[in-house]
Amino acid sequence: MTTSPSRATPDVTDLTRPFWDAAREGRLAIQRCAGCAHYNHPPRTACDACLSTNLAFADVSGKGAVWSFTVMHQKSVAGFEDAVPYLTALVELDEQPLLLLVTNLPGADPSTLRIGHRVHVIFEPLQDGLQLPQFVLDHARLPLSSHLEGAGGEITP
Ligand SMILES: [Zn+2]
Repeated sequence: MTTSPSRATPDVTDLTRPFWDAAREGRLAIQRCAGCAHYNHPPRTACDACLSTNLAFADVSGKGAVWSFTVMHQKSVAGFEDAVPYLTALVELDEQPLLLLVTNLPGADPSTLRIGHRVHVIFEPLQDGLQLPQFVLDHARLPLSSHLEGAGGEITP
């Protein structure tokens, strides 16, 4: 399963523009509160942690781990009808617990994918210079301390 979803164009708004502008330049930038340093994603009008509206964007490492995933088999999402089956995953960035981004994990095999697999960001070119942050597996060893099912082995693509 290596087919990319035929996704719709991102709806760039004033609130999300810094995220997409950074992605155009190959950077992953996440909204961060100037008051308490909490990351918010997707971007908000007020900080989730302290309700401050003093928000900016900060570059992050683009490194994280698979937090959850599913394989979509139903053709119920507009623009993705021809892509089934495809992976949809949540990645937790290293910068903050529960700082989650949605990705398709291009190249990942659902039969060997496990929660906790290490990933890093790549940028998938779309139309008009837009780039979609996606995550791919690091192919590194899982953390030895992981308590998650299936953890502890060598990851193979
Ligand atoms: Zn805050």
